[in-house]
Amino acid sequence: MQQSPKSLIHGLLRTELVEAFRAAGQPAYRAGQTWAWLYVQRVTEWDAMKNLPVGLRRELADHFELSAVKQLKMDGEAGQTRKLLVGLRDGECVEEVLIPARDRRTVCVSSQVGCRFACAFCASGQGGFVRPLEAGEIVGQVLLAWREYGDRPSNIVFMGMGEPFDNYDAVLKSIRILNDPKGIGIGARHITVSTSGVIPGIERLAGEGLQVELSVSLHAPDDALRTKLMPVNRTYPLADLLEACRKYAGATRRIITFEYTLIRGVNDTRAHAVALAKKLKSIPARVNLIPLSPVDGFAGEAPAAGTAELFVDILDQSGINSTVRHSKGSKIDAACGQLRLRSRTAVKITEAGRT
Ligand code: SAH
Repeated sequence: MQQSPKSLIHGLLRTELVEAFRAAGQPAYRAGQTWAWLYVQRVTEWDAMKNLPVGLRRELADHFELSAVKQLKMDGEAGQTRKLLVGLRDGECVEEVLIPARDRRTVCVSSQVGCRFACAFCASGQGGFVRPLEAGEIVGQVLLAWREYGDRPSNIVFMGMGEPFDNYDAVLKSIRILNDPKGIGIGARHITVSTSGVIPGIERLAGEGLQVELSVSLHAPDDALRTKLMPVNRTYPLADLLEACRKYAGATRRIITFEYTLIRGVNDTRAHAVALAKKLKSIPARVNLIPLSPVDGFAGEAPAAGTAELFVDILDQSGINSTVRHSKGSKIDAACGQLRLRSRTAVKITEAGRT
């Protein structure tokens, strides 16, 4: 009979850890010490928790899993964009991307294994959906990144595999754990959740009392084209989505970032830019233009040189700020899901080789 897996200790809020210790008859200060081992010293072995009695360490090891994730593979070089293939307890894997800049150490985390949203240009959806990640597996990705950076990550973006609002509770819990000032302590304003446009998630996030940054993947200025690129648009069409964004901006006083992946001849003409500017005019918005990173299984191409700059100019004329994200990761397959797709066979072999 298969044993149910132990719960991930990195998936507990500090209040839950304190409660678990209380229920086990342990004093509260022991929970505080354990929390510090997890997030200040960031140990990877129970026996490294030197100020805990050996018996308590054994008890913790019996109840909780300390290693939610492990690094299976890394592409790229230190100081540049790097991509990690992250192995999970059940043999599944996700990827995360480390994006260092002058004063930032950004980590792009995954929220699900695979994705059910099947955006035409995104590799994550091509492999189908496997399962949502647990909060502890999301926190674990940030701890792996900390180890690689040799320093605390400064910014977290939920732009890896998966749709964060299709796994709302675990994503929110991971944000609260990452945000804990006695733990990793990453401010909500340094955490960005990116959604394909799941309106109920936007509405819930607006009511959390957190100043998390919201990013919405738009990719088209009209329903017909958006539905072709992003099937989610059938459920949550553009007008409703933009209304939810307007409300989010009002409730949180945050500017919303709209992601727009430029695909040659598909959504990147002057007319598309003008239509986009018109749609966003009444919303506190900025636009992040992303030249398509070509993926196997999608015939689209990156835009011609100068296209992104044309969009920047046209948006600017409507008073909308925009930036161009030059895909630093394309050399290392950093577009969503690519590393996992290409590594699946290799990972399966690794798994089969295990005892
Ligand atoms: N599901 C969420 C977060 C993951 S994708 C969302 O849709 O927002 C993060 C961003 O990368 C999204 O804007 C997505 O549309 C974009 N993206 C996915 N595949 C891409 C590709 N091949 N080239 C450029 N951008 C891509």
